[in-house]
Amino acid sequence: MNRKIENTINEILTRVDFSKTDIIRLLESEAEDRTLLFKKSSEIKKKYIGNKVWFRGLIEFSNICGKDCLYCGIRKGNKNLKRYNLSDDEILAAAKFAYDNRYGSLALQSGELEGGLFANRVENLLNKIKELSNGELGITLSVGEQEPEVYKRWYNAGAHRYLLRVESTNQTLYSKIHPNDSKHNFNRRMDCLKNLQDIGYQTGTGVMIGLPFQTLDDLAGDLLFMKDFNIDMCGMGPYIEHADTPLIKHSENLMPLKERFDLTLKMIAVIRIMMKDINIVAATALQAIDPIGREKAVKIGANILMPNITPGKYRDSYKLYDNKPCTDDSAEDCQSCLEARVSLADAEVIYGEWGDSKHYDKRRH
Ligand code: SAM
Ligand code: SF4
Repeated sequence: MNRKIENTINEILTRVDFSKTDIIRLLESEAEDRTLLFKKSSEIKKKYIGNKVWFRGLIEFSNICGKDCLYCGIRKGNKNLKRYNLSDDEILAAAKFAYDNRYGSLALQSGELEGGLFANRVENLLNKIKELSNGELGITLSVGEQEPEVYKRWYNAGAHRYLLRVESTNQTLYSKIHPNDSKHNFNRRMDCLKNLQDIGYQTGTGVMIGLPFQTLDDLAGDLLFMKDFNIDMCGMGPYIEHADTPLIKHSENLMPLKERFDLTLKMIAVIRIMMKDINIVAATALQAIDPIGREKAVKIGANILMPNITPGKYRDSYKLYDNKPCTDDSAEDCQSCLEARVSLADAEVIYGEWGDSKHYDKRRH
Protein backbone atom coordinates (compact mmCIF):
# COMPACT_ATOMS: atom_id res chain seq x y z
CA MET A 1 0.00 0.00 0.00
CA ASN A 2 1.24 3.47 -0.78
CA ARG A 3 1.32 5.07 2.65
CA LYS A 4 1.83 8.57 1.34
CA ILE A 5 -1.36 8.41 -0.76
CA GLU A 6 -3.33 6.79 2.07
CA ASN A 7 -2.37 9.63 4.40
CA THR A 8 -3.41 12.18 1.81
CA ILE A 9 -6.89 10.70 1.44
CA ASN A 10 -7.25 10.32 5.19
CA GLU A 11 -6.19 13.89 5.63
CA ILE A 12 -8.70 15.14 3.05
CA LEU A 13 -11.46 13.12 4.70
CA THR A 14 -10.91 14.85 8.03
CA ARG A 15 -11.45 18.33 6.55
CA VAL A 16 -14.64 20.26 7.29
CA ASP A 17 -14.81 21.76 3.80
CA PHE A 18 -13.40 20.30 0.61
CA SER A 19 -11.60 22.39 -1.99
CA LYS A 20 -12.02 21.60 -5.67
CA THR A 21 -8.63 19.88 -5.63
CA ASP A 22 -9.69 17.73 -2.68
CA ILE A 23 -12.85 16.66 -4.49
CA ILE A 24 -10.97 15.78 -7.67
CA ARG A 25 -8.55 13.74 -5.58
CA LEU A 26 -11.47 11.86 -4.00
CA LEU A 27 -13.11 11.25 -7.38
CA GLU A 28 -9.81 9.83 -8.67
CA SER A 29 -9.38 7.49 -5.70
CA GLU A 30 -8.76 3.83 -6.45
CA ALA A 31 -8.23 0.64 -4.42
CA GLU A 32 -7.64 1.34 -0.70
CA ASP A 33 -8.27 5.05 -1.15
CA ARG A 34 -11.66 4.35 -2.68
CA THR A 35 -12.47 2.00 0.20
CA LEU A 36 -11.59 4.75 2.69
CA LEU A 37 -13.89 7.18 0.87
CA PHE A 38 -16.82 4.73 0.91
CA LYS A 39 -16.18 3.81 4.54
CA LYS A 40 -16.34 7.44 5.55
CA SER A 41 -19.50 8.19 3.54
CA SER A 42 -21.34 5.16 4.91
CA GLU A 43 -20.35 6.08 8.48
CA ILE A 44 -21.73 9.56 7.92
CA LYS A 45 -24.94 8.22 6.46
CA LYS A 46 -25.36 5.91 9.45
CA LYS A 47 -24.75 8.73 11.91
CA TYR A 48 -26.97 11.40 10.33
CA ILE A 49 -29.68 9.38 8.54
CA GLY A 50 -29.48 5.85 9.98
CA ASN A 51 -29.74 2.68 7.90
CA LYS A 52 -33.03 3.81 6.48
CA VAL A 53 -34.50 4.09 3.04
CA TRP A 54 -37.72 5.84 2.03
CA PHE A 55 -39.74 5.15 -1.10
CA ARG A 56 -41.07 7.65 -3.62
CA GLY A 57 -43.47 5.74 -5.86
CA LEU A 58 -42.51 7.00 -9.31
CA ILE A 59 -45.25 7.76 -11.84
CA GLU A 60 -43.80 8.65 -15.24
CA PHE A 61 -47.11 10.05 -16.37
CA SER A 62 -46.23 11.26 -19.87
CA ASN A 63 -43.31 11.09 -22.28
CA ILE A 64 -44.55 14.07 -24.27
CA CYS A 65 -41.90 16.77 -24.10
CA GLY A 66 -41.57 20.23 -25.58
CA LYS A 67 -37.79 20.25 -25.26
CA ASP A 68 -34.94 18.71 -27.15
CA CYS A 69 -32.12 17.99 -24.69
CA LEU A 70 -29.46 16.30 -26.80
CA TYR A 71 -28.98 13.33 -24.44
CA CYS A 72 -32.57 12.34 -23.76
CA GLY A 73 -34.49 9.52 -25.45
CA ILE A 74 -37.88 11.21 -25.02
CA ARG A 75 -36.78 14.54 -26.54
CA LYS A 76 -39.27 16.18 -28.83
CA GLY A 77 -37.18 15.47 -31.92
CA ASN A 78 -37.16 11.69 -31.42
CA LYS A 79 -39.75 10.44 -33.91
CA ASN A 80 -39.00 6.73 -33.21
CA LEU A 81 -41.07 6.75 -30.07
CA LYS A 82 -44.69 6.14 -29.27
CA ARG A 83 -45.91 9.05 -27.18
CA TYR A 84 -48.25 8.44 -24.24
CA ASN A 85 -50.09 10.44 -21.66
CA LEU A 86 -51.66 8.58 -18.75
CA SER A 87 -55.27 9.47 -18.05
CA ASP A 88 -55.99 11.17 -14.73
CA ASP A 89 -57.72 7.97 -13.60
CA GLU A 90 -54.61 5.91 -14.34
CA ILE A 91 -52.45 8.34 -12.39
CA LEU A 92 -54.86 8.34 -9.46
CA ALA A 93 -55.00 4.52 -9.49
CA ALA A 94 -51.19 4.42 -9.27
CA ALA A 95 -51.32 6.95 -6.42
CA LYS A 96 -53.89 4.78 -4.64
CA PHE A 97 -51.57 1.77 -5.07
CA ALA A 98 -48.80 3.76 -3.38
CA TYR A 99 -51.11 4.82 -0.57
CA ASP A 100 -52.53 1.31 -0.01
CA ASN A 101 -48.99 -0.10 0.09
CA ARG A 102 -47.94 2.53 2.65
CA TYR A 103 -45.36 4.23 0.45
CA GLY A 104 -44.87 7.53 2.24
CA SER A 105 -44.58 9.53 -0.96
CA LEU A 106 -45.09 9.78 -4.68
CA ALA A 107 -42.94 11.34 -7.39
CA LEU A 108 -44.71 12.65 -10.47
CA GLN A 109 -42.38 12.94 -13.45
CA SER A 110 -42.89 13.70 -17.14
CA GLY A 111 -41.54 15.42 -20.19
CA GLU A 112 -41.57 19.18 -19.93
CA LEU A 113 -44.65 21.11 -21.04
CA GLU A 114 -45.53 24.67 -20.12
CA GLY A 115 -48.82 26.48 -20.31
CA GLY A 116 -52.19 26.76 -18.63
CA LEU A 117 -53.54 23.33 -19.54
CA PHE A 118 -50.56 21.49 -18.09
CA ALA A 119 -50.46 23.71 -14.99
CA ASN A 120 -54.17 23.14 -14.33
CA ARG A 121 -53.89 19.44 -14.89
CA VAL A 122 -51.03 18.98 -12.42
CA GLU A 123 -52.77 21.21 -9.85
CA ASN A 124 -55.95 19.18 -10.15
CA LEU A 125 -54.02 15.92 -9.80
CA LEU A 126 -52.24 17.20 -6.70
CA ASN A 127 -55.58 18.09 -5.09
CA LYS A 128 -57.03 14.69 -5.93
CA ILE A 129 -53.98 12.77 -4.68
CA LYS A 130 -54.12 14.67 -1.39
CA GLU A 131 -57.81 13.88 -1.16
CA LEU A 132 -57.52 10.14 -1.86
CA SER A 133 -54.72 9.78 0.69
CA ASN A 134 -56.25 11.98 3.42
CA GLY A 135 -53.29 14.29 2.97
CA GLU A 136 -50.92 11.48 3.91
CA LEU A 137 -48.94 10.94 0.69
CA GLY A 138 -45.98 13.26 0.32
CA ILE A 139 -45.49 14.49 -3.25
CA THR A 140 -42.32 15.22 -5.22
CA LEU A 141 -42.66 16.87 -8.61
CA SER A 142 -40.17 16.59 -11.46
CA VAL A 143 -41.74 18.25 -14.46
CA GLY A 144 -39.07 20.73 -15.43
CA GLU A 145 -38.87 24.48 -15.82
CA GLN A 146 -42.03 26.47 -15.11
CA GLU A 147 -43.05 30.02 -14.26
CA PRO A 148 -42.81 30.95 -10.55
CA GLU A 149 -46.62 31.40 -10.34
CA VAL A 150 -47.08 27.82 -11.50
CA TYR A 151 -44.56 26.51 -8.98
CA LYS A 152 -46.46 28.47 -6.31
CA ARG A 153 -49.84 27.05 -7.30
CA TRP A 154 -48.50 23.50 -7.19
CA TYR A 155 -46.85 24.14 -3.82
CA ASN A 156 -50.15 25.43 -2.45
CA ALA A 157 -51.89 22.35 -3.85
CA GLY A 158 -49.62 20.08 -1.80
CA ALA A 159 -46.40 19.37 -3.71
CA HIS A 160 -43.59 19.97 -1.25
CA ARG A 161 -40.49 18.64 -3.02
CA TYR A 162 -39.17 19.39 -6.49
CA LEU A 163 -36.38 17.71 -8.42
CA LEU A 164 -34.80 19.74 -11.19
CA ARG A 165 -31.38 18.51 -12.21
CA VAL A 166 -29.05 21.28 -13.27
CA GLU A 167 -27.40 18.63 -15.53
CA SER A 168 -24.10 20.53 -15.45
CA THR A 169 -23.02 23.78 -13.81
CA ASN A 170 -20.32 24.33 -16.39
CA GLN A 171 -22.11 26.59 -18.86
CA THR A 172 -19.87 25.57 -21.74
CA LEU A 173 -20.69 21.92 -21.16
CA TYR A 174 -24.37 22.79 -20.66
CA SER A 175 -24.43 24.40 -24.06
CA LYS A 176 -22.83 21.33 -25.65
CA ILE A 177 -25.53 18.99 -24.37
CA HIS A 178 -28.51 21.24 -25.11
CA PRO A 179 -29.65 23.09 -28.20
CA ASN A 180 -28.59 26.72 -28.01
CA ASP A 181 -31.97 28.40 -27.98
CA SER A 182 -34.22 30.19 -25.53
CA LYS A 183 -35.93 26.94 -24.49
CA HIS A 184 -32.68 25.50 -23.18
CA ASN A 185 -31.21 28.38 -21.28
CA PHE A 186 -28.80 27.79 -18.41
CA ASN A 187 -29.75 31.00 -16.60
CA ARG A 188 -33.42 30.10 -16.66
CA ARG A 189 -32.62 26.74 -15.10
CA MET A 190 -30.76 28.51 -12.31
CA ASP A 191 -33.65 30.96 -11.85
CA CYS A 192 -36.08 28.05 -11.61
CA LEU A 193 -34.01 26.40 -8.89
CA LYS A 194 -33.89 29.67 -6.96
CA ASN A 195 -37.64 30.20 -7.34
CA LEU A 196 -38.35 26.69 -6.07
CA GLN A 197 -36.19 27.27 -3.03
CA ASP A 198 -37.74 30.69 -2.33
CA ILE A 199 -41.28 29.33 -2.58
CA GLY A 200 -40.43 26.78 0.10
CA TYR A 201 -40.01 23.50 -1.74
CA GLN A 202 -37.48 20.95 -0.57
CA THR A 203 -35.31 21.55 -3.58
CA GLY A 204 -33.33 18.84 -5.29
CA THR A 205 -30.85 18.92 -8.10
CA GLY A 206 -28.14 16.80 -9.62
CA VAL A 207 -26.13 16.02 -12.71
CA MET A 208 -25.48 13.21 -15.13
CA ILE A 209 -22.08 11.60 -14.76
CA GLY A 210 -19.88 10.52 -17.64
CA LEU A 211 -21.27 12.92 -20.25
CA PRO A 212 -19.24 13.56 -23.37
CA PHE A 213 -16.79 16.46 -22.82
CA GLN A 214 -17.26 16.30 -19.01
CA THR A 215 -14.18 16.45 -16.78
CA LEU A 216 -13.55 15.73 -13.09
CA ASP A 217 -13.07 19.46 -12.69
CA ASP A 218 -16.65 19.96 -13.96
CA LEU A 219 -18.01 17.36 -11.56
CA ALA A 220 -16.14 18.86 -8.60
CA GLY A 221 -17.63 22.24 -9.58
CA ASP A 222 -21.10 20.65 -9.63
CA LEU A 223 -20.69 19.34 -6.08
CA LEU A 224 -19.42 22.70 -4.82
CA PHE A 225 -22.44 24.37 -6.46
CA MET A 226 -24.81 21.97 -4.66
CA LYS A 227 -23.23 22.79 -1.32
CA ASP A 228 -23.19 26.51 -1.99
CA PHE A 229 -26.81 26.52 -3.20
CA ASN A 230 -27.76 24.61 -0.05
CA ILE A 231 -29.80 21.90 -1.78
CA ASP A 232 -32.05 19.61 0.27
CA MET A 233 -32.04 16.64 -2.08
CA CYS A 234 -29.67 15.24 -4.66
CA GLY A 235 -30.36 12.95 -7.62
CA MET A 236 -27.33 12.00 -9.71
CA GLY A 237 -26.95 9.15 -12.11
CA PRO A 238 -24.67 7.91 -14.86
CA TYR A 239 -25.26 9.24 -18.35
CA ILE A 240 -26.31 6.34 -20.59
CA GLU A 241 -26.41 6.91 -24.30
CA HIS A 242 -29.58 6.48 -26.35
CA ALA A 243 -29.29 5.51 -30.00
CA ASP A 244 -31.91 8.03 -31.18
CA THR A 245 -30.29 11.14 -29.73
CA PRO A 246 -27.78 13.59 -31.17
CA LEU A 247 -25.21 12.90 -28.42
CA ILE A 248 -24.84 9.33 -29.67
CA LYS A 249 -22.26 10.58 -32.17
CA HIS A 250 -19.86 11.24 -29.28
CA SER A 251 -20.13 7.73 -27.84
CA GLU A 252 -16.66 6.62 -28.81
CA ASN A 253 -15.14 9.24 -26.51
CA LEU A 254 -17.07 8.17 -23.44
CA MET A 255 -15.58 6.37 -20.48
CA PRO A 256 -16.78 2.73 -20.22
CA LEU A 257 -20.14 2.23 -18.49
CA LYS A 258 -18.51 0.54 -15.51
CA GLU A 259 -16.32 3.58 -14.94
CA ARG A 260 -19.33 5.89 -15.21
CA PHE A 261 -21.01 3.72 -12.61
CA ASP A 262 -18.03 3.82 -10.29
CA LEU A 263 -17.65 7.57 -10.66
CA THR A 264 -21.34 8.00 -9.80
CA LEU A 265 -20.83 6.05 -6.57
CA LYS A 266 -17.88 8.29 -5.72
CA MET A 267 -19.95 11.42 -6.46
CA ILE A 268 -22.67 10.13 -4.11
CA ALA A 269 -20.10 9.36 -1.42
CA VAL A 270 -18.50 12.80 -1.68
CA ILE A 271 -21.81 14.71 -1.56
CA ARG A 272 -22.89 12.62 1.44
CA ILE A 273 -19.72 13.71 3.25
CA MET A 274 -20.16 17.34 2.14
CA MET A 275 -23.89 17.52 2.94
CA LYS A 276 -24.50 15.06 5.73
CA ASP A 277 -28.25 15.36 6.23
CA ILE A 278 -29.66 15.79 2.70
CA ASN A 279 -31.75 13.16 0.94
CA ILE A 280 -29.87 11.34 -1.82
CA VAL A 281 -31.62 9.27 -4.48
CA ALA A 282 -30.21 5.97 -5.71
CA ALA A 283 -31.00 6.56 -9.41
CA THR A 284 -32.56 3.86 -11.61
CA ALA A 285 -29.83 4.44 -14.22
CA LEU A 286 -27.36 2.81 -11.79
CA GLN A 287 -29.27 -0.43 -12.14
CA ALA A 288 -29.06 -0.25 -15.92
CA ILE A 289 -25.31 -0.79 -15.52
CA ASP A 290 -25.11 -3.04 -12.46
CA PRO A 291 -28.03 -5.27 -11.35
CA ILE A 292 -27.42 -4.28 -7.73
CA GLY A 293 -26.32 -0.74 -8.56
CA ARG A 294 -28.92 1.04 -6.47
CA GLU A 295 -28.15 -1.13 -3.45
CA LYS A 296 -24.47 -0.26 -3.78
CA ALA A 297 -25.49 3.42 -3.74
CA VAL A 298 -27.59 2.88 -0.62
CA LYS A 299 -24.61 1.29 1.12
CA ILE A 300 -22.36 4.27 0.55
CA GLY A 301 -24.73 7.16 1.07
CA ALA A 302 -28.10 7.18 -0.72
CA ASN A 303 -31.33 6.97 1.30
CA ILE A 304 -34.14 7.35 -1.26
CA LEU A 305 -35.42 4.81 -3.77
CA MET A 306 -38.02 5.42 -6.44
CA PRO A 307 -39.88 2.19 -7.23
CA ASN A 308 -41.57 2.57 -10.57
CA ILE A 309 -45.36 2.37 -10.22
CA THR A 310 -46.17 3.59 -13.73
CA PRO A 311 -48.62 1.11 -15.31
CA GLY A 312 -46.43 -1.52 -17.05
CA LYS A 313 -47.74 -1.02 -20.58
CA TYR A 314 -46.30 2.51 -20.70
CA ARG A 315 -42.88 1.84 -19.21
CA ASP A 316 -41.24 0.81 -22.40
CA SER A 317 -42.02 4.23 -23.84
CA TYR A 318 -40.32 6.22 -21.06
CA LYS A 319 -36.90 5.26 -22.29
CA LEU A 320 -34.51 8.06 -21.49
CA TYR A 321 -31.56 5.80 -22.35
CA ASP A 322 -30.95 2.34 -23.79
CA ASN A 323 -31.42 -0.79 -21.62
CA LYS A 324 -33.58 0.95 -19.02
CA PRO A 325 -34.25 -1.75 -16.38
CA CYS A 326 -37.60 -3.12 -15.10
CA THR A 327 -39.69 -1.86 -18.00
CA ASP A 328 -41.77 -5.03 -17.95
CA ASP A 329 -42.26 -5.40 -14.17
CA SER A 330 -45.54 -4.65 -12.42
CA ALA A 331 -45.66 -2.22 -9.50
CA GLU A 332 -45.94 -5.19 -7.09
CA ASP A 333 -42.87 -6.88 -8.60
CA CYS A 334 -40.98 -3.67 -8.28
CA GLN A 335 -41.77 -3.27 -4.59
CA SER A 336 -40.91 -6.82 -3.50
CA CYS A 337 -37.76 -6.81 -5.59
CA LEU A 338 -36.60 -3.53 -4.10
CA GLU A 339 -37.41 -4.56 -0.56
CA ALA A 340 -35.30 -7.72 -0.86
CA ARG A 341 -32.51 -5.72 -2.41
CA VAL A 342 -32.54 -3.02 0.26
CA SER A 343 -31.97 -5.61 2.95
CA LEU A 344 -28.91 -6.69 0.96
CA ALA A 345 -27.53 -3.27 1.65
CA ASP A 346 -28.20 -3.75 5.41
CA ALA A 347 -30.84 -1.06 5.22
CA GLU A 348 -34.53 -0.99 6.05
CA VAL A 349 -37.43 0.45 4.08
CA ILE A 350 -39.49 2.79 6.23
CA TYR A 351 -43.15 2.62 5.25
CA GLY A 352 -45.84 5.20 5.90
CA GLU A 353 -43.45 8.11 6.48
CA TRP A 354 -42.56 11.03 4.24
CA GLY A 355 -38.85 10.78 4.97
CA ASP A 356 -38.31 14.47 4.39
CA SER A 357 -34.88 15.99 4.04
CA LYS A 358 -33.50 16.68 7.51
CA HIS A 359 -31.39 19.36 5.93
CA TYR A 360 -34.53 21.23 4.90
CA ASP A 361 -35.90 21.17 8.45
CA LYS A 362 -32.66 22.60 9.81
CA ARG A 363 -32.39 25.18 7.05
CA ARG A 364 -35.91 26.47 7.70
CA HIS A 365 -35.92 26.55 11.53
N1 SAM B 1 -38.41 16.71 -18.06
C1 SAM B 1 -38.01 16.88 -16.71
C2 SAM B 1 -36.62 17.46 -16.62
O1 SAM B 1 -35.88 17.41 -17.58
O2 SAM B 1 -36.28 17.95 -15.53
C3 SAM B 1 -38.08 15.60 -15.89
C4 SAM B 1 -37.89 14.32 -16.62
S1 SAM B 1 -36.24 14.07 -17.28
C5 SAM B 1 -36.44 12.65 -18.22
C6 SAM B 1 -35.39 13.50 -15.81
C7 SAM B 1 -33.89 13.36 -15.91
O3 SAM B 1 -33.55 12.29 -16.78
C8 SAM B 1 -33.15 14.53 -16.48
O4 SAM B 1 -32.95 15.54 -15.52
C9 SAM B 1 -31.83 13.88 -16.95
O5 SAM B 1 -30.78 14.10 -16.04
C10 SAM B 1 -32.17 12.38 -16.99
N2 SAM B 1 -31.79 11.81 -18.29
C11 SAM B 1 -32.25 12.16 -19.51
N3 SAM B 1 -31.59 11.48 -20.47
C12 SAM B 1 -30.69 10.67 -19.85
C13 SAM B 1 -29.71 9.74 -20.28
N4 SAM B 1 -29.50 9.53 -21.58
N5 SAM B 1 -28.96 9.11 -19.36
C14 SAM B 1 -29.16 9.33 -18.05
N6 SAM B 1 -30.07 10.20 -17.57
C15 SAM B 1 -30.84 10.87 -18.45
FE1 SF4 C 1 -37.59 16.68 -22.03
FE2 SF4 C 1 -36.58 16.40 -19.54
FE3 SF4 C 1 -35.81 14.79 -21.59
FE4 SF4 C 1 -35.04 17.36 -21.58
S1 SF4 C 1 -34.49 15.77 -20.06
S2 SF4 C 1 -35.86 16.24 -23.33
S3 SF4 C 1 -36.85 18.34 -20.68
S4 SF4 C 1 -37.82 14.93 -20.67
